Amino acid sequence: MSPATYWCDVCRTAYPIGRERPEVVRARHRADFHGGGVPQGERFDGVDGPREINSRQVLIALGVLAVFALVSSLLGIKL
Ligand SMILES: [Zn+2]
Repeated sequence: MSPATYWCDVCRTAYPIGRERPEVVRARHRADFHGGGVPQGERFDGVDGPREINSRQVLIALGVLAVFALVSSLLGIKL
C-alpha cells in the first residue's frame, strides 16, 4: 500500500501525510498557498476515514425499513 498523500491539482503537488491528520495537511496547504480557499481537484489517496453516506443509500435504507414494517404488519407482528 502506498503512503497516504494529499494532492493539489492546482499546484500539481503531492504532500505525504505522516503522523498528522489529513485535514491538518489540507488546511495548512489551503492557508499557505491558496489564501484559505479551496483548490479544485484536491484529494487524498490512501487515507482511511469514515465513509460518507449518500442520499441513495439513505433512500435504500428507508425502503428496506418500509418493507420490513409492511411485512411485519401483514404477519401480525407487533413491534
Ligand atoms: Zn495547491
